[in-house]
Amino acid sequence: MSEDRVHVLLHASELLTGEGVRRKDGRRPEEADLGRIEDGAMAYSVKTVPYEDFTTGKKGMKVVADKVLWTGKSDALPSEYANSPIFDLDGKNAVVPGLVDCHNHLVFAGDRAGEFAARCGGATYAEIAAAGGGIQTTVRATREASDEELFKLGRARLEEAHRFGIRTIEAKSGYGLNEKTELKLLRVVKRLQEATPEMTIVPTFLGAHDFPKEISREAYLAEVIEKQLPAVAKEKLAEACDVFIDEGFYTLAEGRKILEAAKALGLRTKVHADELANTESAALAAELGALSADHLLKISDAGIRALAASETTAVLLPGTAFYLKAPHAPARKLLDAGARVAISTDFNPGTSTTLNLPAVLTIAALYLGLSRAEIFASATYNAARALGLHDRKGSLEVGKDADFFVAPFRKFEELYYRFAW
Ligand SMILES: [Zn+2]
Repeated sequence: MSEDRVHVLLHASELLTGEGVRRKDGRRPEEADLGRIEDGAMAYSVKTVPYEDFTTGKKGMKVVADKVLWTGKSDALPSEYANSPIFDLDGKNAVVPGLVDCHNHLVFAGDRAGEFAARCGGATYAEIAAAGGGIQTTVRATREASDEELFKLGRARLEEAHRFGIRTIEAKSGYGLNEKTELKLLRVVKRLQEATPEMTIVPTFLGAHDFPKEISREAYLAEVIEKQLPAVAKEKLAEACDVFIDEGFYTLAEGRKILEAAKALGLRTKVHADELANTESAALAAELGALSADHLLKISDAGIRALAASETTAVLLPGTAFYLKAPHAPARKLLDAGARVAISTDFNPGTSTTLNLPAVLTIAALYLGLSRAEIFASATYNAARALGLHDRKGSLEVGKDADFFVAPFRKFEELYYRFAW
């Protein structure tokens, strides 16, 4: 490998590899699992790829990090890397694995600021939804938006997420609720992937986010299973299929039908589970071998046991509980039972309007009672596990993707100690 194909980070105040978290597969993480190296360094390969500039939209070629070649103390940098371009951090920055935002409704049009004001004035989310607001407001705006508008909105959001250290991010569809718009959203995500090599964008099909108003429940369920899912699979537009199983949304039986159809087409599965009411949908996710069960505010003890005994990651979204003023998920019970817990933004226009994953980690530390090691694991390896990318992402180890975040702080914990920086 020629020297200019390798870059070196030197004198990180601390470098956290997360190797121990990966070895434990994300369960019961402890301080020693962080792989903390003081005065740390890393050598990594780079590659030149096409991209579009975030600000100007101009297309060109760009050098981006590729694979981790070596990590260790700065004074132990192997001589073979000594002549490579070196970025000396001068002890001012911590280097951590690029954060992974594993539950994100990235692409939609419009906003619901007016509904937020109404909610602050006393209206409930259910009342707003009954009056044609909520998800339906966003569905109307998203159906009307052009591909170009959605692409530009997506790019601006990715740029913001990148500033918060996010290097891998999920992008769910779900604000189309018809075949044409659901496919339009996923095709926009594909364009976003091509334009943004600095980040890994993981598309998830969420046609079963709600029911559209213009056709019957049965007709839409049939459309999702017989038309939307096969079209998504044929064009390879999504890695996974997600369903909103909850009171007032999809029933457990309907959810099972959709998820089994998705599995038969070779898609992975995810579930919006036990958020508004307990439907035992977390247990269904575990039974189906889903990548993740997400929300879990109302999960039962049986659901907790099922998740802990499964390969399914429990994804908690405390920014959403905060924004809805709802009681938080039983995070400690899940962690202590041995479940693998990830934390994510749930960025969406109604119930969690932030891309600031570190700020959500502050809420997780304060209100879910997560330790530093648990916070670290929840936004790195465990979140990568919830997207099925843990072989490549979530820890800085030789051979894995060199997705890293040079934090604007000396210590990892300042990312969430400094609230909403
Ligand atoms: Zn969601």
